[in-house]
Amino acid sequence: MDSWENDEAIQRFREYLRIPSVHPDVNYDECVEFLKRQANELQLPVVVHEIMPGKPVVVITWKGMEPQLPAILLNSHMDVVPVYKEFWTHPPFEAKISEDGYIYARGTQDMKSVGMFHLEAVRRLKAAGVRLKRTVHVSFVPDEEIGGEHGMKVFAQSEQFRALNVGFGLDESCPTTSTKVIRAFNGEKTNRQSKVTCRGNPGHGSLLLPNTAGEKLHYILDKFMKCRAGEMEKQAQGAYVGDLVTINLTQIEIRKWCTEAGEDVTFEYIRHNAPVKITKIDESNQFWTALLCAVKEMGYDVLCNVCPGTTDARFVRQQGIPVINFSPILNSPVLLHAHDERIHVDVFRQGIDIMEKVLEAVANI
Ligand code: ZN
Repeated sequence: MDSWENDEAIQRFREYLRIPSVHPDVNYDECVEFLKRQANELQLPVVVHEIMPGKPVVVITWKGMEPQLPAILLNSHMDVVPVYKEFWTHPPFEAKISEDGYIYARGTQDMKSVGMFHLEAVRRLKAAGVRLKRTVHVSFVPDEEIGGEHGMKVFAQSEQFRALNVGFGLDESCPTTSTKVIRAFNGEKTNRQSKVTCRGNPGHGSLLLPNTAGEKLHYILDKFMKCRAGEMEKQAQGAYVGDLVTINLTQIEIRKWCTEAGEDVTFEYIRHNAPVKITKIDESNQFWTALLCAVKEMGYDVLCNVCPGTTDARFVRQQGIPVINFSPILNSPVLLHAHDERIHVDVFRQGIDIMEKVLEAVANI
């Protein structure tokens, strides 16, 4: 217990956790006030962009030595999902530390911890007298948990965002039970709902007519099911769910199947989100290489996949900016949006250590 109570980083984190920025109808005033105070302590300029009323985007900026270079964006969201208090061992907005060292609170994993990793990494580097080449923007956005429409979506499309001159971004991923391999994402699945229409010969039930809608439907369903079985097989062999059923291939195949199924079969999308390019994770992405190198130097590794859900990173990628979702939360049960969401104090400290090295690496390219 000793050092936990005196660890200032943990105290700042707990203070942030105690702000109930919980849906629905989040009031962000307290978060903004808290973050402005952090910026003042760090002696860094802070700007609150309010493109949508009541939906503040807080940006704390640490100017680099070569500010003409594209900047680094460390993004996190301030909002958290609702709680069912009765299912919690400790109240979800008290940030109590249990005997065994777990901080219990909504947002400990998703993602106030990561927001604090970003700020604490900056704080440590500054305190050590380090000057980074690139400018670093630490952003805190609203409403990610309800789709980000009035948060990162509008911000990423704004003049104010363009003025930040972002060249690379980090955002949230997912905790992992592994003690060595951090989970990261370089893209997201696109949500699409489609509608297949099969038309055929209608006729009396006593006859065997050719070219019926049922036959065509059978053909289509059979194709879907075979595709699905193939994906299930891959999953059984250990493929990550985010990497299964690649969107483009499915789209092409579905169209082809419809044509093959016969005449009068049409296919249309009910919901068709624009595809967002994934961030490259090869030698061509120097930020990724630097991140990976920094992580490996500390004796860890990164497993990078396509995210099975969505995050604010997609809005930044839409602007053509590479983003890696990177929440260095190791050795933890995955409790995003779950009861008893918690993080161990040692895992929290480790997250700051990792973020510090990663930030130093990517901002010095
Ligand atoms: Zn989140």
